[in-house]
Amino acid sequence: MTIEFARNLSSQPLAPEKRAAALENPGFGRVYTDHMVTITWTPDAGWHDAQVRPYGPLSLDPATAVFHYGQSIFEGFKAYVQPDGSIKTFRPDANGRRFQRSAHRLALPDLPVDDFVAAADLLISTDRDWVPAAEEKSLYVRPFMMATEAFLGVRPANHVTFLVIASPAGAYFAGGLHPVSIWLSEEYTRAAPGGTGAAKCAGNYAASLLAQQEASANGCDQVVFLDAVEKKWVEELGGMNVYFVFDDGTLATPPTSGSILEGVTRDAIVALAAERGHPVEERPVSIDEWRAGVASGRITEVFACGTAAVVTPLGRLAWRGGELSIGDGHTGKVTQDIRDALLAVQYGHAADTHGWMHTVC
Ligand SMILES: *Cc1c(COP(=O)(O)O)cnc(C)c1O
Repeated sequence: MTIEFARNLSSQPLAPEKRAAALENPGFGRVYTDHMVTITWTPDAGWHDAQVRPYGPLSLDPATAVFHYGQSIFEGFKAYVQPDGSIKTFRPDANGRRFQRSAHRLALPDLPVDDFVAAADLLISTDRDWVPAAEEKSLYVRPFMMATEAFLGVRPANHVTFLVIASPAGAYFAGGLHPVSIWLSEEYTRAAPGGTGAAKCAGNYAASLLAQQEASANGCDQVVFLDAVEKKWVEELGGMNVYFVFDDGTLATPPTSGSILEGVTRDAIVALAAERGHPVEERPVSIDEWRAGVASGRITEVFACGTAAVVTPLGRLAWRGGELSIGDGHTGKVTQDIRDALLAVQYGHAADTHGWMHTVC
């Protein structure tokens, strides 16, 4: 049985001309659609009071557990206008399953994948005029779940809220795709074995911000983390997985063995790259192999991947006391090819041979 949603529609949706202006240059995460979905959970009633309702502020007691102990998880995926005018999302069921794994790790209640997908579908179809039609634009969908019990005792909350909000997104890089610079975090780690690195939880991001600040202070766009035990193996960026391209066409990406987030984009690229004749190895890559490989020419390209920025070339690696350039300052051929192949499926220009696209409306 899937949850029934009550419909409480906004009496003041944004005027069409204002919406059109917002969709013209939405940036990322600044503008939200007219509605949101909320579902409440308590131990006795389970998931209940599901509704789509006007987007707006929540009123929460200052003692609400999430403010204090961070029991909070989230997801992110996108909806795309297809050539025939329909709207599809990319692998929302994979996000729903990952959401369940994250919930389990944070001792939050299990939300069935069907309800996760239905909640997102309902919000997207209610606000379908908010899905930007232009190429490279999309509607970013943000489901999240948090402890909303007002209680300062430390234990899993007995009142939990699940929400879905959505935000039109433009091309992630306003100036077009260009290689970004990356700072190697040698002092701070993102995740440790047995920790929450594989869960998409709010606290992982809070813990990555100081390292990101260090990256910016050193003139870099993003930060890359090493494993917490040996400080030797490349794990991932603050919010993106990483791939290495070798001179024989092989791709390598670190295995998601507990401390690395299992990216849906990362997973799709395993399949897309293999189809395009690139053997893909999921294996540990050390920071020494990265440095030596770039120096010797064995490693020809490095890219990061995730829902928000899709596939992003890494052009420079810097650390305290040194740096190296990867490639010639332009997006590498393999990186561009994989990015194009993924976008072609998402925007409906290539056949969806994996059944990744989900029709919303
Ligand atoms: C969300 C996320 C990713 C990318 O996952 P996608 O499903 O591809 O968007 C990678 N690393 C971290 C830490 C993340 O939170």
